[in-house]
Amino acid sequence: MANALGLDVKPVTEYTAEEVERVKNWINSKEYKEKNFARQALVINPAHACQPLGAQLVAHGFEGTLPFVHGSQGCASYYRSTLNRHFREPAPAVSDAMTEDGAVFGGQANLHEGLENAYTLYKPKMIAVFTSCMPEVIGDDLTAFIKNAKNKGIVPADFPILYANTPSFNGTHIHGYDSMLVSILQTLTEGKKIEGRCTGKLNLIPGCDFNTGDYREYKRIFKEFGIAVTVLADISETFDSPCDGTYSVYAGGTKLDEAADSINGKATITLGPYATPKTFSWIKDNYAGEHASLSMPIGIVKTDALLMKVAELFGKEVPAALKAERGRAVDAMTDAQQYMHDKKFAVYGDPDYLTGYVSFLLEMGARPYHILCSRGTKKVEKELQSLLDASAYGKGCKIYMNKDLWHLRSLLLTDPVAAVIGDTHGKFAARDAGIPLFRFGFPVFDRVNLHRSPIIGYQGVINMVTAICNKFLDIKDETCEDRFFEMMR
Ligand code: SF4
Repeated sequence: MANALGLDVKPVTEYTAEEVERVKNWINSKEYKEKNFARQALVINPAHACQPLGAQLVAHGFEGTLPFVHGSQGCASYYRSTLNRHFREPAPAVSDAMTEDGAVFGGQANLHEGLENAYTLYKPKMIAVFTSCMPEVIGDDLTAFIKNAKNKGIVPADFPILYANTPSFNGTHIHGYDSMLVSILQTLTEGKKIEGRCTGKLNLIPGCDFNTGDYREYKRIFKEFGIAVTVLADISETFDSPCDGTYSVYAGGTKLDEAADSINGKATITLGPYATPKTFSWIKDNYAGEHASLSMPIGIVKTDALLMKVAELFGKEVPAALKAERGRAVDAMTDAQQYMHDKKFAVYGDPDYLTGYVSFLLEMGARPYHILCSRGTKKVEKELQSLLDASAYGKGCKIYMNKDLWHLRSLLLTDPVAAVIGDTHGKFAARDAGIPLFRFGFPVFDRVNLHRSPIIGYQGVINMVTAICNKFLDIKDETCEDRFFEMMR
């Protein structure tokens, strides 16, 4: 056997072409699906990233904040490259590059040297430390390490350094997001609560959302309302800054003094109930004003819920411009419903995205037939089931909790659907099934600018309907017989 260079190579395994063909067909069968779903000790292609990646995303959302990975350099490269490939922007972060000696003697020396270098070289306003698996396994005590760094004068005593424990063997990027967000807010707001003070502002927590267009859309919506808003944590500029020939390590982010004063806000809303439970629980106990936890506003119903809650909290009418926008979104759905009606979809992703996708599809009369979450709780499952139960289109649809994208592949091959909604990792399964993948989640490595196109709010509805229906129409045009190739669709 010769390789591409014409050199003789010995195959690692000797299989006949017939055997390869047999296995290829077998992994598409129902028999294989049963074996695949009986699998317990192995995860293949999970639909989530690791905890520190979520922590890093939060750190990028605050002004002048340097994300600092206490742990392995390879892990740090993974979070940085994943964010970098998704946004096509730099994701500057440092690592104290623990190696074997750190694993044996503890990572304090690495952390101290790293803090000294990072503080001196990158001149941050705040450092947000989070951990990879290695220091978590050996039990590094970050409270003591950071205290010792300040006592030794490695960084000034009053310089804000905070940390979050983000062990990836116990959670996903949404858990890391939550741990880092609550840690940053606890640090920034300490001693800032003033009795009787009210900023009059809305604190908005978008949740673990990787779409910069969504952040801009929220700001636009609240501008229509005439409500001042503090977005916690705001990545819209960090990962979508203008290309003007200059570079800043710290582009954008929520201003630190604004985040500190958020504790005196008029109201706080989280739109990531599954990505921010710890943060929201702490906010309820510590922040002034009203508190509300709502679903990510994907689809008409969930967007309505957000706008009505804001109107109620601030004693304002929903602005006429937003009502008109709603009407346009409903019109866009009505014009396009025939192309999605009764079509089956498979959806996967983070719980907050999933509840939105499912709600949106049911509104369109489509069927979220396979719903897969690779790290979810009974609570998520219950909420998804209640969405299905409330609609005629939810009948026969099934939720697969704690399953991965190799399970999804079996589902697509044995019980077909028209399309998949998820992130780039699902493209292999979608290709094997010969159906389109709509990339609304995270990460998206293989298409451009999707993170700039909002999927929340009424504009998000229009964007999603347009992307999905036009793809179906493209497929029809590309695959139909000549006699059915029509000008009108
Ligand atoms: S799972 Fe653990 S070891 Fe793997 S990249 Fe994430 S932090 Fe590093």
